[in-house]
Amino acid sequence: MADNFIHDIIEKDLETKKYGDKVCTRFPPEPNGYLHIGHAKSICLNFSTAAKYGGKCNLRYDDTNPVKEDVEYVDSIEEDVRWLGFQWDKRLWASDYFDTMYEAAVELIKKGKAFVCDLNGDEIKEYRGTLKEPGKESPYRNRSVEENLRLFEEMKEGKYKDGEKVLRAKIDMASPNINMRDPIIYRIAHVSHHNTKDKWCIYPMYDFAHPIEDAIEGITHSICTLEFEDHRPLYDWVLKEVGWWSAPPQQIEFARLNLTNTVMSKRYLKAMVEEGVVEGWDDPRMPTIAGIRRRGYTPEAVRNFCEAIGVAKANSTVDISLLEHCVREDLKEKVESRNVVFDPVKVIITNYPEDKTELCEIENNVQVPEMGTRQVSFSRELWIDGADFMEEPPKKYFRLFPGNEVRLKGAYFITCTDFVKNDDGSIKEIHCTYDPETRSGSGFEGRKVKGTIHFVDAKNAVPVTIRQYDYLYKENEAGEMASNPETVKISTAYAEAKAAEAEKGERFQFFRHGYFVADAKLHEKDAPVFNEIVGLKSSWK
Ligand code: ATP
Ligand code: MG
Repeated sequence: MADNFIHDIIEKDLETKKYGDKVCTRFPPEPNGYLHIGHAKSICLNFSTAAKYGGKCNLRYDDTNPVKEDVEYVDSIEEDVRWLGFQWDKRLWASDYFDTMYEAAVELIKKGKAFVCDLNGDEIKEYRGTLKEPGKESPYRNRSVEENLRLFEEMKEGKYKDGEKVLRAKIDMASPNINMRDPIIYRIAHVSHHNTKDKWCIYPMYDFAHPIEDAIEGITHSICTLEFEDHRPLYDWVLKEVGWWSAPPQQIEFARLNLTNTVMSKRYLKAMVEEGVVEGWDDPRMPTIAGIRRRGYTPEAVRNFCEAIGVAKANSTVDISLLEHCVREDLKEKVESRNVVFDPVKVIITNYPEDKTELCEIENNVQVPEMGTRQVSFSRELWIDGADFMEEPPKKYFRLFPGNEVRLKGAYFITCTDFVKNDDGSIKEIHCTYDPETRSGSGFEGRKVKGTIHFVDAKNAVPVTIRQYDYLYKENEAGEMASNPETVKISTAYAEAKAAEAEKGERFQFFRHGYFVADAKLHEKDAPVFNEIVGLKSSWK
């Protein structure tokens, strides 16, 4: 069953056998930066569409612009696509087709459909006209085929400087679509290319190269974002005029992903890396796939998110809380919990023997009993969250305060009898008594308490570094995106001993706090570092 308009198109094409039984898509990144969550939408769409119809999806590097590209990015792109759970059929480079593209350009010249133009960049812009006014034909438009062939060859031979000449398609300077007003299809650039080195000093423009890349690979449905809708007539024109392919691919546009509180363009992300605003492309605050992976998001969550937002024909902005919701939903029944105490304060159980320690059973995941239990130790001195004690509680505060009784999750009921302050007014220690009758699992039903808090045994607590993040960009009062000055909060928390056994990249729910991951780079067993993945509560409606 078709579940979006792209699948509708494909199913009609399969019915009419437009491409026989074939469905072939491609994901065509330009290797000029790391992939971001917007690319994930395109990756999921292209790969899962091919899979749905028994077709294939290529990974093709769109490396026709030699200036901005770097092989450094290639490895990251492949790692990211694999991490998302997809495997390409072929891995290809657009630059491998430069010969064919050159021949296609010669073909157009021979047909009188392309000409060498000597106007400079500014003049071309001026001649192009506007949305309201038609353009003006270039004075070089009527060069003979022979002259054009000779000049184009000379361009290729390196006889001219950058910008001195260009090859333009000869279409229609009065077209209401500006892209059809004799667009440039080849330009001179005396730069070495990572793949073809110094073989070429002329390079094809995207609008000319892309349809040819698709056609050579036998792509049937060339899915791209909405900005290219106005380029589709040119895409079709190139394939028709070159004329080598009997069932040329078709371009289909969909709305790109925009997210609240998120800047996605590679250009901006690159600037943040270069200016040191973030620690790198894989900084956990970055919307790059490398960043969200290090942040602890799962590939399943990202795929579910891409499915949930669907594929539309109109641009919109998705609330980032939906992505966070998908992460939380995915982790909820997958990860074990750990007791970790933030902003720790000491609790002394005054009626508990000094040298005694007992072990309490705690569920690894309250929602999934099959995940079993683990043991945490309990003794006379414990740590609890600073936020779980108040000297003078407001109404409806059910946690610890003088005279109040709470349940320690997995252990006993304790009652606060007293507390001691430091000179600076902060809490030094809280004195409590415990009721031995109330041990968890003993079936005690004598009385109920309203609050349950968690604890960590001070005897074997492990200090861990906690890194919590905020959005790099936030909407300001005027409703504009503005960079957020404070985006990382680093603190030390105390964790139950077992938390220190975490492997790099392992995820947990820190009970009552949120989901956390052992940082892939900074975490060490003798110096644990955890990133906050996402909080427990959803703000998504
Ligand atoms: P950016 O504008 O962020 O620099 P780009 O479009 O230049 O990205 P490419 O490497 O050219 O990046 O993109 C590869 C593919 O990913 C293209 O097909 C493009 O349409 C798609 N893509 C890029 N950004 C998004 C997005 N935000 N949502 C959906 N698809 C996207
Ligand atoms: Mg691009």
